[in-house]
Amino acid sequence: MKIGILGAGQLGRMMAISGYPLNHQFGFSGNGNNEPASLLGHMFALEDTADHIESLVAFADVITYESENTDVAAVKEISKNVAVYPGVKSLFTTQHRGREKALFDQLNIPCAPYQRVNSEQDLIEAVNVLGLPAILKIATEGYDGKGQFLIHNENQIGEAWASMNDAESILEGFVSFKRELSLIAVRGIDNDHKYYPLVENIHHNGILRLTIAPAQNIDSAVQATAERYMKTLLDEMDHVGVLTIELFETDNGLAVNEMAPRVHNSGHWSIEGANTSQFENHIRAISGMPLGDTTPTHAFNAMINIIGKTGPIDIALKLPNAHLHLYDKSERADRKLGHINITANSQAELEASIDKLKDFLPK
Ligand code: AMP
Repeated sequence: MKIGILGAGQLGRMMAISGYPLNHQFGFSGNGNNEPASLLGHMFALEDTADHIESLVAFADVITYESENTDVAAVKEISKNVAVYPGVKSLFTTQHRGREKALFDQLNIPCAPYQRVNSEQDLIEAVNVLGLPAILKIATEGYDGKGQFLIHNENQIGEAWASMNDAESILEGFVSFKRELSLIAVRGIDNDHKYYPLVENIHHNGILRLTIAPAQNIDSAVQATAERYMKTLLDEMDHVGVLTIELFETDNGLAVNEMAPRVHNSGHWSIEGANTSQFENHIRAISGMPLGDTTPTHAFNAMINIIGKTGPIDIALKLPNAHLHLYDKSERADRKLGHINITANSQAELEASIDKLKDFLPK
């Protein structure tokens, strides 16, 4: 099949790399010919042609996207001519924190308490309801901790609201979590579902730095609960493709933080760490192929993000159980340039390998 991808970043790049062995072809719409995916297929870029989206639609048998910030109106228009997966309901819901939270409430999925905020007065009232500390988050287009303000005391309310530039926001009660986890699942056009194991995610300054897969010491009941929330969401949105939910593990069980209608940074470990990667499973799902097995290939896996500077990649290249993935991006502060996957057969082996790669992690 010919698969069109809206966006040409590293997620599109890795989808294409996983899809070529299945005999698929790829086309991308992007900003130019200098993006991570632009040499991996036909590039339909604004700089080449004003009607680049139309050209992509003419090329593709099915279309997917890399980002929850993809324009809903454009996807609706495209859907008149060619199937787009995940569909509009998934995209519309997940690109707005308020709509996402409303869906969690409707489906009785626990999440942090929240209030919608559209003015400084709303924020004052929301703080009265939720108490402090609380986190003010922009409703749309936030990523990697951007568009967020942690409010510790009432004197910060004015500053917090000013930082949102009048954008629609939500205030979320602060969750004191033990760990941050995520669950990735995939649903096919035929309604088949598959789940990866819960993984643990460690962030620094709002950016994911390290994923441990599977998360250690997860009770099977906790995995089952996360899968139940996931299945409810997949079915409710009639989702096709990969869906990711980020969760907080607390003393009172799991609380969902947010979700993304796409392959996710916390699933990159699955390229070598699972029988079928998240990328291949997304491509299988949207192209109507049977889903692949999601069982880990090793009992202990990790993914280290390469952020800002490429760093001492030779160390990774010399480690037999490390797998380097670079995205063909130039160095820039806080930019995701690549990742290293580690596969191991014991906790000790995993820890020793992470230690050898510690120059890639924050101090
Ligand atoms: P998000 O963009 O919603 O994933 O938030 C970025 C990071 O901020 C998360 O990975 C958490 O570390 C932290 N965070 C977000 N929401 C909350 C919350 N309600 N309580 C405590 N920490 C939070």
